[in-house]
Amino acid sequence: MNASEAKVAATLDVDAVRAAFPILSREVHGKPLVYLDSAASTQKPQVVIDAVSHFYETTNANIHRGVHRLSQEATDAFEGAREEMRAFLGAEQVEEIVFTRGTTEGINLVASSYGRANVGTGDEILISHMEHHSNIVPWQMLCEQTGAKLVVAPINDDGEIEMDALAGLLGARTKIVAVGHISNALGTINPVAEIGRLAHQAGAVLVVDGAQGAPHGAVDVQALGADFYACSGHKMYGPTGIGVLYGRRDLLDAMPPYQGGGEMIRTVSFEGSTYAPVPHKFEAGTPNIAGAVGLGAAAAWLRGLGFNAIERHESDVTSYGTSRLAEIKGLRMIGTAKHKAAVLGFVLDCAHPHDIGTILDQEGVAVRTGHHCAQPVMDRFGVPATSRASLGVYNTRADIDALVAALARVRELFA
Ligand code: PLP
Repeated sequence: MNASEAKVAATLDVDAVRAAFPILSREVHGKPLVYLDSAASTQKPQVVIDAVSHFYETTNANIHRGVHRLSQEATDAFEGAREEMRAFLGAEQVEEIVFTRGTTEGINLVASSYGRANVGTGDEILISHMEHHSNIVPWQMLCEQTGAKLVVAPINDDGEIEMDALAGLLGARTKIVAVGHISNALGTINPVAEIGRLAHQAGAVLVVDGAQGAPHGAVDVQALGADFYACSGHKMYGPTGIGVLYGRRDLLDAMPPYQGGGEMIRTVSFEGSTYAPVPHKFEAGTPNIAGAVGLGAAAAWLRGLGFNAIERHESDVTSYGTSRLAEIKGLRMIGTAKHKAAVLGFVLDCAHPHDIGTILDQEGVAVRTGHHCAQPVMDRFGVPATSRASLGVYNTRADIDALVAALARVRELFA
C-alpha cells in the first residue's frame, strides 16, 4: 500500500459500510439479520453487485478470441480485474495472477502442477495442524501419487503454530511448506513471513492459503515471501466461483499446465500442442468473466476503505466479542491466539453447536456450526464441533450484543 492509499481513511465509517450492503437490511424470522458468518462467505456490497450486472447489461461476450467490440471490452474488463488483483496482492507482475474458482482450486493447481513436477518419493510436504481441508487433502493426494510424506507442525493450546517444532521439522527433504494466513476455525494470524524465511532456508517453496487472509488485512505477497498465495472472491466481498492464485513468475513459467483445453494453448495439432504463456496456460476454458469483474470491484472497494481502518475496526469488534463471550457461563473459547482476527469459535457446556446455531437463527443471528472443514483442529481441542461467529467489515459491537443476548436464550432453554 502506498502512502496516499494508507491515508484513505484512518477510521471506518461503519454506518456507511453497512448501508453499502443491501442484504443487511433484511429480516430473518421477523428479526433484523445479524450476519456473523463471513468466514464462510461474506455479503456483497452494491458496488460489486452493480459491477456484475453492469457487465451483463453492457459488455457480456466471450473474451480473448473475439475481434468484435463487445469481446474486446469484455477482455479489457477481465484483464483489468487481473491488474486490480495484482495491486491488491502486491504482486510484481500481472502475469503472476491466475484466475481460479477459488482457494480450493488454487491449492489443487499448485499440488497437481508444481507438486507433480517437483515432489518425489521420500520428499516431504509440511503443513500445520490448523489447516482447512483444502490445504490438507490436495497434499495427501499428491503424497499418494508421488510417494512423498505429509508432515504436520503441531499447534499449542491457544491455537498457535509451535514455531520451534515447525523449524525442527524442516529439512532437506521438505519441498513444500503450506500454511494458512489466518485460520478459519481459530482466527489465528500465522507468522507467515517467518515461516516463509524458514521454508526458503530449507530450500522449500511457501504456499499460503489466503482464503481468510485476503479479506482482513493488506496482503503483500512479496513481503510475506509467498511463492504461491491462493484466495477466494466470495470471502472478500466478491462473487462466488472466482478466485485468484498468485504464483512467482519463474515458478509458473516452469510449471506444466493444470488442465487442458481452449484458451491455454498456443498451437494444437494431433501430433502435439504447445501452450500459451502464463497466466493463460493455467486458465483452460471460458472463465467466470463476470465473476472476475466483480472480484476486481471488490478488491478496489476494499482498498478504498483502507486496510488500516478495516483492521482497527475488526480488531475492536473481535476484542469486544472476546470479552463479552467470556461473561457467558459454561462457554469455552476455541482459539485464543495472541494474534487473532475476526473469528470467535466456542463451545457451550449446555448445548450442542447445532442446537446453538438453530436457536441463534431463530433470533436472526447467523453463525456457523460444525467442524468448519478443519476436523484435525476439532480433534486437537477434543470437541466434535464448535459454534463460530466470524466478522466482516460491516459487523459492529451491537452485533456482538445481539449474539450474547441470543446465547442467553440458549442457556435459558438448555441449561
Ligand atoms: N482455506 C480456508 C482457511 C478457508 O476458510 C476456506 C473456506 O472456508 C478455504 C480454504 C476454501 O475456500 P473455497 O471454498 O472458497 O475454495
